Amino acid sequence: MNHLLENLNPEQLAAVTLPPQHALILAGAGSGKTRVLTTRIAWLISTRQVTPQGILAVTFTNKAAKEMLARLSALLPINTRGMWIGTFHGLCNRLLRAHYRDAGLPQLFQILDIADQQAAIKRLLKALNVDDEKFPPRDLQHFINAQKEQGLRSAAVEAWDDHTRRRVELYAAYEQQCQREGVVDFAELLLRCYELLERNEPLRRHYQERFRHILVDEFQDTNILQYRWLKLLAGHAERGRAAGPSQGAAALSMEAASAAEPPSPPPLGRGMGGGCMECACMFAVGDDDQSIYGFRGAEIGNMRDFEREFQVDNIIRLEQNYRSHGNILDAANAIIKNNEKRLGKNLWTDAGSGEPIRVFEAMSDGEEARWIVEEVRALSRDGHARREIALLYRSNAQSRILEHSLFSAGIPYRVYGGLRFFERQEIKHALAYLRLIANSDDDTAFARVVNFPARGIGARSIEALQDAARAAGSSLFAAIPQVPGKAGASLAAFAALIESMRPALDLPLPELVDHVVELSGLRLHYLNEKEGQERLANLDELLNAATSFVAEEGREVMEPEEAESTGEPTGELSADLAAFLTHAALEAGEHQAGEGDDALQLMTVHSAKGLEFNVVFMSGLEEGLFPHENSVQEAKGLEEERRLMYVAVTRARQRLYLSFAQTRMLHGQTRYSLPSRFIDEIPGELLKWLTPKAKKGGYAYEVADAFTPSPRSRVSSGGGLRVGQNVAHARFGQGVIVNAEGSGSDARVQVNFGPAGMKWLALSVAKLEAL
Ligand code: ATP
Ligand code: MG
Repeated sequence: MNHLLENLNPEQLAAVTLPPQHALILAGAGSGKTRVLTTRIAWLISTRQVTPQGILAVTFTNKAAKEMLARLSALLPINTRGMWIGTFHGLCNRLLRAHYRDAGLPQLFQILDIADQQAAIKRLLKALNVDDEKFPPRDLQHFINAQKEQGLRSAAVEAWDDHTRRRVELYAAYEQQCQREGVVDFAELLLRCYELLERNEPLRRHYQERFRHILVDEFQDTNILQYRWLKLLAGHAERGRAAGPSQGAAALSMEAASAAEPPSPPPLGRGMGGGCMECACMFAVGDDDQSIYGFRGAEIGNMRDFEREFQVDNIIRLEQNYRSHGNILDAANAIIKNNEKRLGKNLWTDAGSGEPIRVFEAMSDGEEARWIVEEVRALSRDGHARREIALLYRSNAQSRILEHSLFSAGIPYRVYGGLRFFERQEIKHALAYLRLIANSDDDTAFARVVNFPARGIGARSIEALQDAARAAGSSLFAAIPQVPGKAGASLAAFAALIESMRPALDLPLPELVDHVVELSGLRLHYLNEKEGQERLANLDELLNAATSFVAEEGREVMEPEEAESTGEPTGELSADLAAFLTHAALEAGEHQAGEGDDALQLMTVHSAKGLEFNVVFMSGLEEGLFPHENSVQEAKGLEEERRLMYVAVTRARQRLYLSFAQTRMLHGQTRYSLPSRFIDEIPGELLKWLTPKAKKGGYAYEVADAFTPSPRSRVSSGGGLRVGQNVAHARFGQGVIVNAEGSGSDARVQVNFGPAGMKWLALSVAKLEAL
């Protein structure tokens, strides 16, 4: 057992070997929180305080869960398969699969990913004749998810105005539609699981007695509902929030009022602060400085509430960072110091200062991407493995140009998130057929493929079908016999096609997939399509994915024990299909085909959380992009962006690159930007500029600065104007040129208009008067 505890510092050791009690590990990036959590699981098991089945551990990504399981297998001679270690979504899905009937779901319920959900909402709005300008589907989607994440069903949402009232009605209609179709969205997985446990006492007791230790990584990013779910599973009395009427408290009390159960007993208060004799021990690790999901309803207040409600008197702080070299850590500390609302901690390392942080300013996003390619090549020549190099960006839209350059240069890369394998058109089509043969009431899948490949079922026929379905209160598929005439005949032929595929459910999963791709006509369709080669290759890849899925994790979702507890026969083969479809919806972005390859890692900063790389490129460090323009209006938003930057910087072990571009094409528009303020927040002595140092701040209107001719102006004159010259503009007033580039009709200048801000203006368009 001792080898488990080797290589832990005293604080880490204390955390790993805490007696059974609730604990909060509050510590900065790279201080070993995840390592402590994993080691504690191993220690608890190896000292026989708990069996592997008695552990429930929540990780932030599936990738993290896999790593945790791999580490556990390395530490202990146990079979980790079947252990309850996963994401909130993954664990809830597993519970719902095991108890689908109690949860009011069909056995093969399907999961709607974000795009499916949006499509479902669009379909709903259309069916109800709702003006989608007044109620944009995206807004409604956001509204619905936000309610669910607070634990609110449509019936519990209070609407204060007509618009909200209508949105709540639409939320209710959406709930009905999903129920009818037997589909659940991501937020529903959690809410449904929470309700299942809350209302079903025997089931709740079963799991409460089973899970003796609950461990949660990245606790700072849990939302209200997730925290309540944890409390419920821990068997901890729900007592609302004494701290005052926050939104969360409102949600809690409302929910409590409508709950089928009588109010829970008073606090544990067994006079042994933080003890967990009758409930599970909660072990939460987190870092308030890395809370980056506030925009999606995560509640940093959960940390405070946890401390109070579980009477945690063990808050362990870890301050030594084992990940990054000193300069990187100093930069991270300097950045985060600008935030006001912090629990406060500082990280140190004995790893030495290491290399300076490299900063690169590009003229354009294209130049930035080309520079990254060159730098990556040089790193490879120096012996750096590509999988140890991460390319981070603030938003997914930025990846396109980076991908383009990497692709042209023949550098293998893998994108996490973004348009993922399972989100590609042809894959979604194939999955929709599979979903439909598993559950013909799945209208989302139906709508996707009823006329793909084209079989002459036009918009009119679909409308007639929708009317019939609405009148009968049935699914689209079930309403087919009601549609008369030619339309009815084409639809009936489609129904027959689906029925003809159903016997294939008895085949092993890979054969089933192959069969469906063939019979549906998808393969033929792409064979005949001019650019169909890649899509065909992807369909083949789907087959491979199904094959390796069965080999690696088939039926993991339905453990015999859980199946028994429901007393239901599970139907092995359909369970394979269900598990595979779930895998496609939930795990898609995190491991794609050929994961073992040595590929550069591309991802947003959000998805980089918890990970580490030898080399990190943080690209697109521009005002408006990072910090994001939607965030800078209020301190709260800006502080979240800064925490995101802190996460980005602290991913790097040895080398960190920061880069920005003066111009960038985003969403079809060229943007002219200034360097991110976050670069300025890093002490100059930690930085090494690879290009001449950028001029200081455009966001602070430093007019004095503006009179110094810019060292990086790339043209000496633009249309007779020069850097430093005072100018006037009809709309922005008087200003001074601080920068210029391009020539002829491409010439543009950057002007500091003082109160009106800093602007890039094309001289061919803007009328500037020299003063
Ligand atoms: P984050 O906040 O980014 O999630 P973390 O606090 O979870 O970070 P870990 O990922 O657990 O940190 O650890 C960071 C790195 O430091 C890992 O590579 C880990 O193996 C290593 N590490 C942690 N503790 C020690 C230690 N005592 N000795 C040597 N290496 C350690
Ligand atoms: Mg971690």
